[in-house]
Amino acid sequence: MRILITGAAGFLGSHLSAKLLDEGHQVIGMDNFVTGNPENLARLTSNPNFSFIRHDVSNFIFVPGKIDAVMHFASPASPNPASPYGYTNLPIQTMKAGALGTHNTLGVARSHKARFLLASTSEIYGDPLEHPQRETYWGHVDPIGVRSVYDEAKRFAEALTMAYHRYHGIDTRIVRIFNTYGPHMRLDDGRVVPNFMQQALRKEPLTIYGDGQQTRSFCFVSDLVDGIVRLLYSDEHDPVNIGNPAETTILRFAETINRLTNNPSGIIAQPASRLGDDPQRRQPDITRAREILKWEPKVSLDEGILNTIPYFKEKMGLA
Ligand code: NAD
Ligand code: UDP
Repeated sequence: MRILITGAAGFLGSHLSAKLLDEGHQVIGMDNFVTGNPENLARLTSNPNFSFIRHDVSNFIFVPGKIDAVMHFASPASPNPASPYGYTNLPIQTMKAGALGTHNTLGVARSHKARFLLASTSEIYGDPLEHPQRETYWGHVDPIGVRSVYDEAKRFAEALTMAYHRYHGIDTRIVRIFNTYGPHMRLDDGRVVPNFMQQALRKEPLTIYGDGQQTRSFCFVSDLVDGIVRLLYSDEHDPVNIGNPAETTILRFAETINRLTNNPSGIIAQPASRLGDDPQRRQPDITRAREILKWEPKVSLDEGILNTIPYFKEKMGLA
């Protein structure tokens, strides 16, 4: 297939591009570098099956030649206002990438009769009242909360994707991605894994927002990408959760990182209000992914963190 991947210079987009190139596809990466990193393209550009277009997906998209699949991953993704790359500091761009970017990429899929895959998120469940979260749960999102620029853009993107599927017959897929980590994350995007990794490798205390009793379920990137590629190859149109159901409190997660990096400095509490409407619990129910895609994660948290440490060491000049 000849596949357009938006957000290709980002963390997930660059891993996905590499995986699809490995599978023998041609990949056209598209990105405007608002949160992405040109260094993430380095391992892709040496492949003759990879090409790149610098473009903002909020504007009309033209790609010459045939396209068989469009995968829309372009969007800021970090909630942390302490980072210039956090989506609360890029609120309009975030809404435009989710709304106009989804409209434009669906338009590309329609004009090329290509299949379409939307990168949605566990954030569409908001601060969930159902636990773990199944795809049938409608969510609990404050439409004017600080996170709403991201959550509501993704909810709109899902609605628009289903409208194109139902009205125009576009061959669409929606993946709801739960917290994913691994090499090629931006060091300064403020998400918990880059923050904790750098603090631990500098032998500093890890900054926990609130009491650390909020939970997340962390998936290693190779598992996530495997699930997404299976979804791309499937005929499933309804949303599918992809994530690792191994739930942990942020406090326990911090202790795990300190143990695996031999960091003696412990943790330090920061105000809970740091991230506004921080969801209190998050864990995917992956029954549908297991049944439909025959997929489940293979990489344990310890293994995934140990696989990620060398990347951070190298980027921090500690290797
Ligand atoms: P990232 O910030 O590393 O990558 C996003 C990429 O999109 C960046 O390269 C950025 O420059 C690009 N981009 C943003 N707006 C753009 C625009 N208007 N035009 C062109 N390019 C644009 O984040 P990520 O973690 O790789 O996330 C990728 C996708 O996966 C996002 O859609 C995000 O919502 C979704 N997602 C990620 C996670 C996760 O845990 N990593 C969880 C849920 C959903
Ligand atoms: N978090 C934290 N310290 C940090 C960064 C994040 O305690 O330095 C917490 C944050 O409050 C949230 C969780 O870690 O409960 C995950 O945050 P992240 O920014 O990675 O993404 P989210 O899952 O909230 O979208």
